Amino acid sequence: VKNHVSIIGAGINGLLTAFYIANYHPELHITIYEADSHPVDNKDNKGTTLGSKDARHVTGSESICFESSVHHEALRNHPNSVNPGWLLKGEKDLSPDELDWRDKFEKLYTHKSEINDLDYAHARLNYRGLEGWHNLANEYPEINKHFLSKDFVEVYFESEDSFLDDLKMEKDFCSKYYPDQSVRQANNPKLKNTYESHLLVPGMSLRVKSLALSLIKILESKPQVDFHWNRIIENTTGMKSNVIIWTIGSTHKQPAQYQEQHIQGIVGCWATIKNPGYTKPFKIASPVPSAYINLTPDAGSLHVSGGFGWLGNCTDRSEVERLSEPVAKHLIDQIQKFLDVKVGLSDIEYCIRPSTPNGLPLMKAENRGDKKHIYISGSSKSGTTHAPILSQFVLDQI
Ligand SMILES: Cc1cc2nc3c(=O)[nH]c(=O)nc-3n(C[C@H](O)[C@H](O)[C@H](O)COP(=O)(O)OP(=O)(O)OC[C@H]3O[C@@H](n4cnc5c(N)ncnc54)[C@H](O)[C@@H]3O)c2cc1C
Repeated sequence: VKNHVSIIGAGINGLLTAFYIANYHPELHITIYEADSHPVDNKDNKGTTLGSKDARHVTGSESICFESSVHHEALRNHPNSVNPGWLLKGEKDLSPDELDWRDKFEKLYTHKSEINDLDYAHARLNYRGLEGWHNLANEYPEINKHFLSKDFVEVYFESEDSFLDDLKMEKDFCSKYYPDQSVRQANNPKLKNTYESHLLVPGMSLRVKSLALSLIKILESKPQVDFHWNRIIENTTGMKSNVIIWTIGSTHKQPAQYQEQHIQGIVGCWATIKNPGYTKPFKIASPVPSAYINLTPDAGSLHVSGGFGWLGNCTDRSEVERLSEPVAKHLIDQIQKFLDVKVGLSDIEYCIRPSTPNGLPLMKAENRGDKKHIYISGSSKSGTTHAPILSQFVLDQI
């Protein structure tokens, strides 16, 4: 059937893409298939967007690629080892797909010790994403209302050296890709065990789950859009649409066709604790596996996220918890080093980032038989930040 597109996956990427298509091509019929049930009735959504906490940062920070932030051997070392790594499964438990992903992870890098092409690629996409979200917030009040802040995010560092390194890098990225704004520095840190100056980087924070719910509501009100909840798509045989958009991430078992796209899971941890009085979003650059800890105040709550560990293919929820414990424990130690708040292992929830082997997004279109398949996913650390870019990519393809 011409004039009909199908979107598989109702995370931020699937929903924003549907919103773009509905606005720019109102003549197209859109069917959205989602494996989980409607989020209003369901507290057990597994997806990265609908199954985690209601906060994300959108900044040019965290541009540093996997290669520069960890090391080539990261997927061969467990988080507790002397060289902290991201390997969560036992070596002998890795499947052929997982070994293949690791091989790609290790071979895709530039092997340069200074800031490299991959870092610049991440930075460019992050700033384009930031610009995209600003444009959306300016244009649509129903999107704007989910932003908690839109001016800057504070970034704290443990030492003068790491502060100075980051300042140089962030200024370089920002002047290249976001020249109208600048990275600033400020004194008077409010955090213990951090260097006396910190940075203010252009950035935003948003309630991503609330935004996703609003997008669902807006789309449900459009006559040309249909949702099918509880529908796990295993293959597209018999699907009537001539364009199929895959945004399924890595939280469910992937169909064979999708495994070729090499999107696997990298775990992160979340805790929502009582807000002791913070008013602005901030980050703390801490060592891996915790890495940047993101903190987002929302009235009486403070959402805290951080941590990286390679989970590979979709893994059973109880296994995710067991395997990810070293990452969670590291994060808890880091949180307590900087904040006077109590966080225990039982406060931690796990969330899985869909990721390509080098963390840059998958944006691909191909014809298979009489259908066009478009794949968008895998922006590792910046999957929410890049959503406007991925949605625009789809728009350009249809
Ligand atoms: C701890 C943590 C902190 C993060 N912080 C940030 C941040 O500050 N800034 C930022 O930019 N990004 C951040 N991210 C990354 C970002 O949250 C994700 O990249 C993003 O939410 C992914 O959205 P998505 O739509 O691609 O995937 P998902 O939200 O996972 O959506 C995919 C959907 O597809 C459905 N699905 C799967 N298989 C099928 C199937 N076969 N048939 C039908 N439906 C299917 C799933 O149920 C799911 O709802 C963070 C991630 C984590 C884990």
